[in-house]
Amino acid sequence: MTDAVSPRMTTDLSGRVAIVTGAGRGIGRCISRTLARCAATIACVDVNLAAAEETVSLIHADGGQAAAFACDVTNSDQVNAVVDAVVQQYQELHILVNNAGITRDGLLLRMKDEQWDAVLNVNLRGTFLFTRAAARHLIKVGGARIINIASISGLMGNPGQANYSASKAGVIGFTRTVARELASRQVTVNAVAPGFIATDMAQALGESILKQIQDRTPLGRLGEPQDVADAVLFLASPAAAFITGTVLRVDGGLAE
Ligand code: NDP
Repeated sequence: MTDAVSPRMTTDLSGRVAIVTGAGRGIGRCISRTLARCAATIACVDVNLAAAEETVSLIHADGGQAAAFACDVTNSDQVNAVVDAVVQQYQELHILVNNAGITRDGLLLRMKDEQWDAVLNVNLRGTFLFTRAAARHLIKVGGARIINIASISGLMGNPGQANYSASKAGVIGFTRTVARELASRQVTVNAVAPGFIATDMAQALGESILKQIQDRTPLGRLGEPQDVADAVLFLASPAAAFITGTVLRVDGGLAE
């Protein structure tokens, strides 16, 4: 996995303020740095404040603008407080990227209640809480964006991930409904469904499974965080103004 950031698309997001959840590492860090490279101001949200601060330091080193916020996305009070703090600091909010996510894999017959609840809470409830808190600000600015990070597991299923697949399928249904609810306020709401991306989350699968996935992927490789970040950047850009309620797969053709 590389931590280098180099968006393959350029767009001007100056004056735009974005919240990215799970910004402390992996895909969220790359999304944060990519949007910042296009001049957006980033509120880097993570349950691990030190990790979010590290992302902010990288953005500052790139010449961008960002601040770190500690927040557990499953905690309604914390979510509301962070959204309020971001709007107080930057006056407006234009982009929300619901990226924070976890896995607690296990086959259905052995899956514990805690594994189910933890994954549904972070991946689906967290997306709901942040979207609800942010929406009342996003509807005020015109041309706002909500981008939810789903997964191809939510489209095609994946053995050992009943909890995760259900949470991501939920994110997709949520995306489609909120897109319809907020369309009249010119807020677009889309999901990105990554395949297997080389981050700590995918590394947990182990080398031999990753090799099998790579062999099954038509484009012959795992994805990089930048592949996902570029898709998010596109959906956040003016070029995607007429796209809402879609699921953009970023999977090297795996789910086709
Ligand atoms: P990582 O595990 O590398 O990073 C996830 C980030 O989310 C971490 O910084 C983590 O913090 C943070 N986080 C976890 N729980 C919470 C919480 N309750 N509140 C706030 N932040 C939290 O994952 P990836 O970067 O790989 O994944 C990012 C997103 O992409 C997820 O939604 C994932 O489901 C999705 N995805 C990933 C794929 C992959 O192959 N990597 C494939 C398809 C989708 P901490 O460091 O403290 O754990």
